[in-house]
Amino acid sequence: MSSLVRLVPVTDHVYVATSRRYVTNSTVILDGHGGALVIDPSWDADELAAIPADLRALGVTCVAGLATHMHYDHVLWHPDLGDVPRWASAGTVEAIVNRRTELLAPLLGDIPEDLIEIAGHLVPIEGPTLNWRGPRAVIHQHDAHAEHHIAVEIADLGVLVSGDMLSDLELPMPDWSEVDLETYRSGLLQLAEVAHRAERVIPGHGAVGNDVAERYEADLAYLDELDQTGASADPRVDLELNAELHELNVRRSAFGAGV
Ligand SMILES: [Zn+2]
Repeated sequence: MSSLVRLVPVTDHVYVATSRRYVTNSTVILDGHGGALVIDPSWDADELAAIPADLRALGVTCVAGLATHMHYDHVLWHPDLGDVPRWASAGTVEAIVNRRTELLAPLLGDIPEDLIEIAGHLVPIEGPTLNWRGPRAVIHQHDAHAEHHIAVEIADLGVLVSGDMLSDLELPMPDWSEVDLETYRSGLLQLAEVAHRAERVIPGHGAVGNDVAERYEADLAYLDELDQTGASADPRVDLELNAELHELNVRRSAFGAGV
């Protein structure tokens, strides 16, 4: 285990690698039969390459990938992870097929071209759980942070891989096209039960936490405060990385002037 470069164990069968950029998390779930599911691998070329190397060190092989949503930093891949099914919601697959150039544009000049070419080749998940040999993985789909976004609940392990939701670092970030907070709120509300049931959350950006319900309540309180007063006491508001986002959210709120 000491030979692992990036993967850090979270609990039985679950590992996380955190990128040097934006505290971005990649999640690995072992299937218990020598295989691994790799969720949202990121980000720089050396960091992507270290994931399959770490899987080799663990004595397992990547059998599937998964992208929680269509954003460029969640649809990356590395050739050494292999040509395996890379799952996403049907809507995410369709979006990448139809809007590939637009959705992957931020990667141009940012990572090597061969990694851009391999990014975003996804197939739709069929059914409410993943069809694999590993622990039961339940899909929770909503449109809060992005359309057709999914969270993956590894039910028997009490783990929720939440994508870009329930972060201790990032404020609620609605899709850029949203003019109010309503779509985000209804997407968040769809996660109410699982957020109160899960014991650990692995967010797309930020720390792994055992405060899943607290994060859910904080995000809901933030939206409510903005709609009621146009301001929020949420400590994340003071983080530099949230400055622009918070200002946009204030404008989106019932109290704001619109976007
Ligand atoms: Zn995102």
